[in-house]
Amino acid sequence: MRRSIWRSLDQQYIAHTYARFDPVFVRGRGCYLYDEQGKGYIDMGSGIAVSGLGHGDRAWERAVCKQAKTLAHASNLYYTQPQVRLAQALCQSTGMHKVFFGNSGAEANECLIKAARKYAAGLYGENQRPVILTLEGSFHGRTLATLAATGQEGFHHDFGPFPQGFAHIPPGDISALEEALTRQDVCALLLETIQGEGGVLPLQAEYLRAARSLTRERGVLLLLDEVQTGNGRTGKLFSFQHFGIVPDGLSTAKGLAGGLPMGACLLGEELANALTPGSHGSTFGGNPVCAAGALAVLERLTPELLAQVAAKGDFLRRELEAAPGVRGVTGLGLMLGVETEKEARQVVTALLEKGVAALTAKNRLRLLPPLTIPWKELRKALSHIKEVAAP
Ligand SMILES: *Cc1c(COP(=O)(O)O)cnc(C)c1O
Repeated sequence: MRRSIWRSLDQQYIAHTYARFDPVFVRGRGCYLYDEQGKGYIDMGSGIAVSGLGHGDRAWERAVCKQAKTLAHASNLYYTQPQVRLAQALCQSTGMHKVFFGNSGAEANECLIKAARKYAAGLYGENQRPVILTLEGSFHGRTLATLAATGQEGFHHDFGPFPQGFAHIPPGDISALEEALTRQDVCALLLETIQGEGGVLPLQAEYLRAARSLTRERGVLLLLDEVQTGNGRTGKLFSFQHFGIVPDGLSTAKGLAGGLPMGACLLGEELANALTPGSHGSTFGGNPVCAAGALAVLERLTPELLAQVAAKGDFLRRELEAAPGVRGVTGLGLMLGVETEKEARQVVTALLEKGVAALTAKNRLRLLPPLTIPWKELRKALSHIKEVAAP
């Protein structure tokens, strides 16, 4: 690895919150990232499930540039067109009723949390049912409330006091859920259908269906964090669409705007009017340029493309499950976790040498390639992964 001025300047001027890998990426095209020396890397991470259309998608680029030239920002004090069109498209494709736009996954979850609390306050009185159940091993973001929601003890230090009203229960355990739902102070259950940061750990369909029916019986809201699993990643537009359930609200972000920062909180019928004028807001949320990018992404997520995502995911899974040095594969569509005999971070470092940019999630190799990755590059990346994983 050549020495780069950017690495030392980064270390001098950027807060030390990231354990970065070596490459300094300067350019992207299709499913390739390029470093300063012009070396190409097959992008098997999409910037953490963000660049679903890869890099420099023509339709996305055109929509974003056109909107940037026309109107980049007006604020939420006024009506703007791309935001409305996007909200309408999201509602029509999910069965949700209203959308609040923010700028990140954490903000989308903050909005879900606030909407659920306010809904419960309206029904039962303030602070009567503030508790939101989340799952152990979950990840919901880095703000104080979403850290508190995150079911990993390691995130609950040093930044206290944390907001109260979160209780963590073991994932996949229906009787633990039943038990938790006997509490009188619970307004919502919030979960990821596949825990992404937690190690690409999926919940079983049976658990998700039980969660839907149990919460409904108890008058508790079911909220899904689809920040990572949304926007086509698992082979459906949103992952809940695999399981025949409909949540009362969901958050999404990462892949939503194809590389621009945008989060959305989608509210179902019951929650649709929980938030009232002045009760929540965002300066940038629903920004016309991000919304135009998101509309371009959504237009591309056709049933045909989603079927390709599912087929490519199945192919990767089958191949990797049979590969020496691989203990198992988890996940759905193009969101896969690969348990390797070698340490995951070591695998990722070796893959970078070979020109493949992959990720880790806990002790697993995590693969989140662009949804549009051609078969040729997918096979090429796969063969490098097999080489590196082999004992
Ligand atoms: C990444 C992620 C978040 C946080 O999103 P940010 O945009 O980083 O705030 C929340 N929930 C899940 C499931 C995520 O994967």
